[in-house]
Formats: sequence, structure tokens, C-alpha cells
Amino acid sequence: MATFPLEILTPEHQFFAEEVEALTISTTDGELTILKGHAPIIAPLMVGTIKIKQNGTWREAFQSEGFLEVNAQGAHLFVQACEWPEDIDVHRAEAAERRARERMRQQRSLQEYKWSQIALTRAMMRLRITNHKINLD
Ligand code: ATP
Repeated sequence: MATFPLEILTPEHQFFAEEVEALTISTTDGELTILKGHAPIIAPLMVGTIKIKQNGTWREAFQSEGFLEVNAQGAHLFVQACEWPEDIDVHRAEAAERRARERMRQQRSLQEYKWSQIALTRAMMRLRITNHKINLD
């Protein structure tokens, strides 16, 4: 299958830079799959997961907010954080989930509520990708 270069950058490091066969990602308009020769685009990304296909096999990674650019050179992802499931600290994500839920219970500003909601989504996505049971109470 035809491949194209995919680069994933976080503020801290280059998370990934390899040839891939396909990339599936959650944009604010829904799930998008990129194959070689995709038309140039820029799309905002929600907290979610990235699915990468190489040698016929899909891998999934957690991805935080950011944006995707596809141009003639390939696909470029700029995200606040990106982690393979095996690198996710489950206890840290559980603690982040508890903190976010607690902040959402408190009477705070709408802005703080929204930040907590996004933090909760990050924690829940991290736990989901590690196949951890999520408490939906
Ligand atoms: P926390 O409150 O635990 O910092 P967060 O969702 O606010 O969680 P981020 O801002 O998304 O954290 O990420 C900050 C840095 O910490 C990034 O480098 C990210 O990869 C790393 N990180 C955050 N949570 C985890 C985790 N559970 N396991 C591994 N790395 C994590």
C-alpha cells in the first residue's frame, strides 16, 4: 500500500516521524482518514486517539488538543500531548480524573468548568486507551 510521511510534534518533543499507510484522527468535524495523496487541509483536533497504519497493522495512541496539516510533504500533527498506551501512567490519569470531577462539582466560573471538562476528557481517553474501566458516575 502507498505510504506518506507522518510527523507528530508536541511542545516537548517529536513523538513520531515515519512513513505510514493511513492515519485516522478525530477532528472537530468528525473522524477523518488520511491516505497518500489526500488534498491539502488544516483541521482542528479534539482530544481523542490517533490510529496509525503501518505494514498492514493499526496502532492507536492518545492525542490531546491540536491541529492537523496535510500538504504535499505529508501529514503533520501538532498536539499538546501524545502517548502510546504503554507509556500512560494509569494512576496519574485516575488522579487527574478525580481532580477534574471534583472541580466540576464545585461552583466555579463557566470557563473553569469548561477547562475541567476538557481535563476530564483527557483523563478518560487516557484510561480508555489503556483499557481501564471508566467510572461514569
Ligand atoms: P495531569 O493533570 O496529570 O498533568 P493533564 O491532562 O493536565 O494531566 P497534559 O497537559 O495533557 O496533562 O500533559 C502534560 C504532560 O504530561 C505531557 O507531556 C503528557 O504526555 C504527560 N502526561 C499527562 N498525563 C499523563 C499520564 N497519565 N501518563 C503519561 N504521561 C502523561
